Amino acid sequence: MSQVVGRFAPSPSGRMHLGNLLCSLLAWLSARSAGGRVVLRIEDLDAMRCPRTFADLLEQDLSWLGLDWDEGGSKGGPHGPYYQSERSEIYNLYYQRLVERGLVYPCFCSRGQLHAASAPHRSDGQVVYPGTCRNLTARQVAEAAKRRPPAWRLRLPEDLTLSFTDGHMGPVTENLPADCGDFVLRRADGVFAYQLAVVVDDALMGVTQVVRGGDLLSSTPRQLWLYQLLDLPAPTFCHLPLLLAPDGRRLSKRDGDQSLENLQARFTPEQIIGKLAYAAGLRSTPDPVRAADLVADFSWDKVPRQDICLPDGLF
Ligand code: GLU
Repeated sequence: MSQVVGRFAPSPSGRMHLGNLLCSLLAWLSARSAGGRVVLRIEDLDAMRCPRTFADLLEQDLSWLGLDWDEGGSKGGPHGPYYQSERSEIYNLYYQRLVERGLVYPCFCSRGQLHAASAPHRSDGQVVYPGTCRNLTARQVAEAAKRRPPAWRLRLPEDLTLSFTDGHMGPVTENLPADCGDFVLRRADGVFAYQLAVVVDDALMGVTQVVRGGDLLSSTPRQLWLYQLLDLPAPTFCHLPLLLAPDGRRLSKRDGDQSLENLQARFTPEQIIGKLAYAAGLRSTPDPVRAADLVADFSWDKVPRQDICLPDGLF
């Protein structure tokens, strides 16, 4: 069997918080417990929101926690560059393949128009694209282009059901045209969309196992369709449950007290890892432990599938 390759794929728009700490820990354990390698890819497509200083801090934070990686980030390696902001020429090669096949069209809808339309919303709050600009004539396109630059969408087949088995969450089925609609590959400002970038990157970086937050489960069918269209090898996926605050709210970077900056002032890496491992079902007590000491016993079976509510007072 070929070697497992896992990855960290953070978007460093701030310091790490407990949600992405848990994600990094599980991605690392999942790869290392299978004797695998780990790649660090900095997902800074939104370069303005993700300055390099945050990416550098993120590397320090991962290292401080004892989560190492074999290639990527400032360390570099054979599949670089590892910063998405430096990979647009690579994305463009794959994007052009789709353009050449007539699968990409311009969309002039503003975000406001899409949300105002009576279009159904997905469970993740996104709008199902109603196909407004799907069949514009060349003349309509020329007219609309005078007013605003378009985003570029992927034309889906009329009917397309995609199914896969998530390594942690189990079977998932989505009818892409009905549940999502034609999705954006390139934004109006020219930046390639996450959906395209993540597929190209995971494939070219040899990633075989994607471990990430459950909020991205609903993106996976879109990505699987791109793997098929681009004839790239798809990895396996394991999506984590969401980590919630003790009161059941979703944790986010806004929870300042849960940012690594504040956690570092109060705890050692072993204390943080021990508490997270306890919350995630990997240990029966929240005692301090090194990440490396969790490798031998790691199993996805121990990790809950439903949202994890942090016990009150744990952090
Ligand atoms: N960059 C994304 C994040 O930090 C993760 C994307 C992925 O794992 O596919 O939430």
